[in-house]
Amino acid sequence: MNFDEGCILCGKELIYSQEDKPHTCEFCGKEFSVNVSCPEGHFICNHCHSASGADLIEGFCNHTELTDPGQIAVLLMKHQQIKMHGPEHHFLVPASLLAAYYNHLDKQDYKSIKIHIARKRAEYVLGGFCGSHGNCGAAVGTGIFMSIITGNTPLAEKEWQMSNTLTGTSLLRIAKAGGPRCCKRDSFIAIAEAVNYLSEHLNVNLPLEPIACSFSSRNKQCKLGDCEYFPGSNNSKLEKES
Ligand SMILES: [Zn+2]
Ligand SMILES: [Zn+2]
Repeated sequence: MNFDEGCILCGKELIYSQEDKPHTCEFCGKEFSVNVSCPEGHFICNHCHSASGADLIEGFCNHTELTDPGQIAVLLMKHQQIKMHGPEHHFLVPASLLAAYYNHLDKQDYKSIKIHIARKRAEYVLGGFCGSHGNCGAAVGTGIFMSIITGNTPLAEKEWQMSNTLTGTSLLRIAKAGGPRCCKRDSFIAIAEAVNYLSEHLNVNLPLEPIACSFSSRNKQCKLGDCEYFPGSNNSKLEKES
């Protein structure tokens, strides 16, 4: 998959028209008058096109109104700045969850400050953490998310328990899927575990549409049919858990 010359989101060839037309940037939500878009109507402004991975995640999560964290994550992952694998996923996971959570609760006022805190915390979760510390950064991302929404500190009781439990359950499910690491699969699992936890313990029910992974061709180590997110995989999550 190479989007270098096409739409970042869908890969289709861009269409140039004679006249400028109004388009909304898919990432920052700002309006522009331009003569280029893709056949699906996607448009990405120059600033977002060249933004760093972390800037892109923060900008998009601040402006999106989506409440499905999986949908937010997949949209971000399609941008060329989000590599197939890399530590940007350690911020992408809590940012997608925070955006969906505060959108769902209709508390958008809290969102940007919380997402910025997650960005700062995720910077400490370096690349390759899964290999060097036996602690996948996507799982740590769910702990960052839970620590932020509960206001956890090292001295807290219930909040401390909840935050560490969510990291733990995410990590166990990620470990169960087996290596080699895949930052897409591990992020999808982490997000699904966070959604389950929110529903069971905080009575917050975020929507989460099933994800059919579209990144397989970019992953040399893809487990293909052995991954529950591989399209057509019969190794589905429900079968695994039964
Ligand atoms: Zn497109
Ligand atoms: Zn933009």
